[in-house]
Amino acid sequence: LDVSDFLRQHIRTVPDWPSTGVQFRDITPLLQDPRVFRVLIDAFVHRYMAPGLRPDVVAGLDARGFIIGAVVAYELNVGFVPIRKKGKLPFTTVAETYELEYGSATVELHTDAISNGQKVLLIDDLIATGGTMIAGIKLLERLGGIVTECAVIVDLPELGGSAKLAQTGKPLFKLVEFD
Ligand code: 5GP
Repeated sequence: LDVSDFLRQHIRTVPDWPSTGVQFRDITPLLQDPRVFRVLIDAFVHRYMAPGLRPDVVAGLDARGFIIGAVVAYELNVGFVPIRKKGKLPFTTVAETYELEYGSATVELHTDAISNGQKVLLIDDLIATGGTMIAGIKLLERLGGIVTECAVIVDLPELGGSAKLAQTGKPLFKLVEFD
């Protein structure tokens, strides 16, 4: 059993949540079992420990990207910066708004979170349409960061996000795919 299949077995699919027709991929069972949580974190840490891939800082996307990103950053002995939903960060921020199926969303980053030329690993739990990840890249690069790679537990390729991300030239590392 490889790591991808092992992790896949511990992701729960919740039908019709948060709305009818959506199959929500729930990653909380991966966190709940310490053995599985360790396999998950180690999969990222092993990759980003490699000298050529080791970032200067890890950025995580609100909110599940914080859980994974903070632990990975700690293990890599680099800092962690949160990219938050609008209105949560207290200091001066940069903001990016992106379109959703219905309406729009805004994410923010503290203006002093990234310094010019820093190599950033951007982490979230899942990529669907790619809107969140691409907004995150824009924020980090507005502050002079260099997003060397994006990483997720789950890619939903049918929703087009990984293809859209590929067009930006940013590599995507993913552990599990669901059709
Ligand atoms: P996107 O912007 O790529 O369309 O959506 C990705 C964002 O929405 C991520 O921050 C992710 O946490 C959340 N998201 C959307 N669908 C799912 C899902 O099925 N499972 C999980 N765990 N998160 C999702």
